Amino acid sequence: MSLPYEVFKSATIGRLNISEDMDMSDADANDEIFEQAFQHTVEFGNSMAEADKEAHPWDISDGLLAGAIQYWLYAHQPCGDPLCEDCASVSTAENRLRELQQLVQEYAEESQYFHSPHDINVGRA
Ligand SMILES: [Zn+2]
Repeated sequence: MSLPYEVFKSATIGRLNISEDMDMSDADANDEIFEQAFQHTVEFGNSMAEADKEAHPWDISDGLLAGAIQYWLYAHQPCGDPLCEDCASVSTAENRLRELQQLVQEYAEESQYFHSPHDINVGRA
C-alpha cells in the first residue's frame, strides 16, 4: 500500500462552522490553524508508517482518529455557564457526540478518498 502523501499536498478540506461575526483576518488565521492541524496529522501518520514498515495503516489511522476524538472532546467542553450561547451545541455529551458525528460525516464526504475505485459498487467498464 502506498503512502497517501498527496493527501497533504492537495488538502482541500474546508473549514466548517466559522462564526459570521469574525472579520476576514480572524477567519484566515483560523483557516491556517485548521490547515496546519490537518496537514500535521496526515504527515504524522505517514512518518509512523515510514518508521515502522510492519505497522498496519489501519492501526495507525485508528490511533490517529482516537487521538483526534480525544483532543476534540477535550477542546469542546462547555465553559460552565448553562446559558452560554456559544456552548449550546456542546452543552451535553449527547450534543457533543451529535456535533462530532456531523463533522465526521462532512469531512469524510469532502475527502478525495471518500470514494475508491475499488468500491464494490463502482461500475466497471
Ligand atoms: Zn460557553
